Amino acid sequence: MTTSGCDKNITVGVIGLGIMGSSFASNLLSRGYNVHVYNRTKEKAQPLIERGATFHSTPRELASVADIIMTSLTDEAAVNSVAFGEDGLLNGAKKGCLWIDLSTIDPSSSVKHAEAAKKAGLERLDTPVVGSKDLASKGELIILVGGSQEVLRKHEKFLNELGKSVIYLGADGNGHKMKLAINLHLGLLAESFSEALVFSQKLGFDAKTFVETINNTPIRNYISQGKGPKIVKGNFEPAFSLNNLAKDLRLVNEQITKTGAILPMTKVSIEEYSRAVQNGEGQKDFSVIALEIQRKNGVT
Ligand code: NAP
Repeated sequence: MTTSGCDKNITVGVIGLGIMGSSFASNLLSRGYNVHVYNRTKEKAQPLIERGATFHSTPRELASVADIIMTSLTDEAAVNSVAFGEDGLLNGAKKGCLWIDLSTIDPSSSVKHAEAAKKAGLERLDTPVVGSKDLASKGELIILVGGSQEVLRKHEKFLNELGKSVIYLGADGNGHKMKLAINLHLGLLAESFSEALVFSQKLGFDAKTFVETINNTPIRNYISQGKGPKIVKGNFEPAFSLNNLAKDLRLVNEQITKTGAILPMTKVSIEEYSRAVQNGEGQKDFSVIALEIQRKNGVT
């Protein structure tokens, strides 16, 4: 099966309807695709069903009708649970169909998934994404690809329905490796922004003045511009949850152990984020790290 010409008659199955999976499915419905969905918690599928998506009660059943299967789930354990076993997608998928995994997971598990997919006669790419729900629902993400370049060439037009930029990074698992490096930077950026914010407050400025000032300098960045004004308003509605960032940092830590990388700021930052999770903030946006550091310093 090739989607190089981007045939809208193909059936796309989306497994995992969290913040991102729901946005992928919504984007594909808007573009006129035949969208089938599965989620462990069925209620989350309701808005998509109302827009014409077909719900399946198991990943296997969904996979049996899909030309392309997309997974967007928390972590490797979640992907294992929908891929393997009696009701798993690998047990139902049509030979030659494509499985793309847009979740952020452990790179070694990603390689294992690629091997299992090949054995079952599927094509598979790791395709973790950079960007959040707004870009996902418009199909404007950045997609980091690991796997066969030939498979990528066959399906690049379809990937462009999800993302405006598709970056090929090499072997199976490499998309997930690069995603961890990028999210490490994201975590450190939010942490360093938060500390500078709190420092300015300790010096007597209010949070709004710091955010407006930094955003008028060349130091401004994704966090100061995208999250800064929301932090000032105390708006931590999740676009990317603290739980998910803490999970990514757990995966980063595993790779630090494997590679022997010496990353002093990372170690401290991982502890800060896990403390915020322990304090019950995990469901909020990861930018809630600013609130944690403010609380510790007795400023608001
Ligand atoms: P989310 O809103 O927390 O959704 C997680 C999804 O995983 C839900 O569909 C959940 O099902 C499912 N799930 C979790 N554990 C499961 C299990 N054991 N078995 C079956 N299903 C399970 O997360 P998200 O923000 O959509 O992110 C999805 C993935 O993309 C994550 O790997 C995340 O790190 C990555 N990502 C997120 C963003 C972002 O901005 N949000 C950006 C880039 C990458 P239930 O609904 O039943 O709980």
